[in-house]
Amino acid sequence: MSDRYDQNNIFAKILRKEIPSTPLYEDEYAYAFHDLYPQAPIHILVIPKGAYISMNDFTANASMEEIAGFFKAVGLVARNAGLADEGWRMASNIGENGGQEIPHLHIHILGGKKLGPLLG
Ligand code: 5GP
Repeated sequence: MSDRYDQNNIFAKILRKEIPSTPLYEDEYAYAFHDLYPQAPIHILVIPKGAYISMNDFTANASMEEIAGFFKAVGLVARNAGLADEGWRMASNIGENGGQEIPHLHIHILGGKKLGPLLG
């Protein structure tokens, strides 16, 4: 865990069940829940159980097991949401220039319609 990790960020509170969320999937590596302000008919967030700020922190400091377990979960959540055949988008905002609002790594799973250009 980075010493810059904020234990009071919203997703840390969601992991500790201090803020409610509807669980879609949970295992030892990952937790998935609906985005509160969906940008697509299906908008799911998947977060690692470990305290990682972003992909920078995660890929530098997480174990291979955590990284593999986390991304296996992302794929499983998308398949469980019925998105495998029609397609979907995976996105992660990183830091200030990336537009990250909540400093706990999260992968956005977006789908349920034909999405516009990534940078449109
Ligand atoms: P970011 O901009 O950091 O990549 O994405 C943060 C996401 O978290 C946004 O899509 C936003 O709608 C979502 N969000 C913010 N607060 C909450 C919350 O309290 N609960 C849930 N489920 N999602 C949230």
